[in-house]
Amino acid sequence: MAKKQHDTPLLDELEEGRWPSFVSGLKSLATDEDKPYAGMMTDLLGQLEHSYETRLGYWKGGTVSVYGYGGGVIPRFSEVAEEYPESKEFHTLRVQPPAGMHYSTDFLRQICDVWEKHGSGLIALHGQSGDIMFQGCTTENVQKAFDDLNEIGLDLGGAGPALRTSVSCVGHARCEQSCYDEVRAHRTTINAFLDEMHRPALPYKFKFKFSGCPNDCSNAIHRADFAVIGTWRDEMKVDQEEVKKYVAEAGRKYTIDNVITRCPTNALSLNDDDTLDVDNQSCVRCMHCLNVMNKALSPGDERGATILMGGKRSLKIGDQIGTVIIPFFPLETDEDFERLEELGETVIDFFAENALEHERVGETIDRIGMTNFLEGIGVEIDPNMISHPRTNSYVRTDDWDEEAAKWEKRKAEKASAKVAAE
Ligand code: SF4
Repeated sequence: MAKKQHDTPLLDELEEGRWPSFVSGLKSLATDEDKPYAGMMTDLLGQLEHSYETRLGYWKGGTVSVYGYGGGVIPRFSEVAEEYPESKEFHTLRVQPPAGMHYSTDFLRQICDVWEKHGSGLIALHGQSGDIMFQGCTTENVQKAFDDLNEIGLDLGGAGPALRTSVSCVGHARCEQSCYDEVRAHRTTINAFLDEMHRPALPYKFKFKFSGCPNDCSNAIHRADFAVIGTWRDEMKVDQEEVKKYVAEAGRKYTIDNVITRCPTNALSLNDDDTLDVDNQSCVRCMHCLNVMNKALSPGDERGATILMGGKRSLKIGDQIGTVIIPFFPLETDEDFERLEELGETVIDFFAENALEHERVGETIDRIGMTNFLEGIGVEIDPNMISHPRTNSYVRTDDWDEEAAKWEKRKAEKASAKVAAE
């Protein structure tokens, strides 16, 4: 027989809106008489209601882990275990999702079976960290759950001062805007630094995120210390017949009001014969026109990625979006992916040696200055790091032409040295 349910008048209110409620989900787990975790979920609801009444949280941390790992499990012990004994331990296992978050239904059933056997049945796809969050497990069952998840090919993610679980968008498997193989970049990088994830030894967290195009579906620019965002450096491709079809279906006024005038840099112009001109020099890759006219417009042929560093949420100096470190990084050949791995290693080493405790790399850059950071990781300053450097009031432009000439010369020397080496 199901355990008697606690009264939850405050939580009940959250079931009244138009959208599916997490409270209904928790209640369905709590009232499923056949399941061993029903009691745990019943007391969890009781504790949550108590938290809403008193406006206090009652979870405290501790140390829970699995053999050989220093992170990946978030311990949660209840401070009100006397009143709610069955949810006195409610740990979370952070588990890395497959790159691109591609699952088969069979695989999803397998992970549900594991969690119904060892945990609470409650799984979040996916947490803010990018992990699959297996929530609600006793200390005794953590190792058993991990062993079974490991058996079907999953591994714990990161927690604490460590390399964190990485995220990549669904990518070129299903998206026509993709500019590089995100899944390969994700796997290459994380596999190379897995030790940093499982045995926390960094000053603070470090995140890689991979988005295939500037739509940035993995939120890399504002959440990742090391963001790899797909782009193209030639001209966007325009299929004028498809443009005409779009205009014929949507109408000239609609096209002008919703595509042309919404370009943030006025780079688009619709001709009298319903063809489209694109001023590619002015395009800032906001992706609006490509998203709206997705049959007519697509990224150019010369594709790769822009690498940005230092994105993060608040912490010490407020939210930051990543700064462009490498304007265009080709990602096609084996050597390109090796170079990406090498760059990741250099940046992680620099971060490990130079960051203060509890400091993200964006804050390190802010503290020591971008020039020192670039010197530290061995990246040369490139005018292309800034869009329109000549119109940016923060960029010194005296002697600019001479400096630009020196830069062009260095670039040419490097290219000829590379050819000579080959
Ligand atoms: Fe303009 Fe954005 Fe289209 Fe570029 S991608 S042309 S900036 S709307």
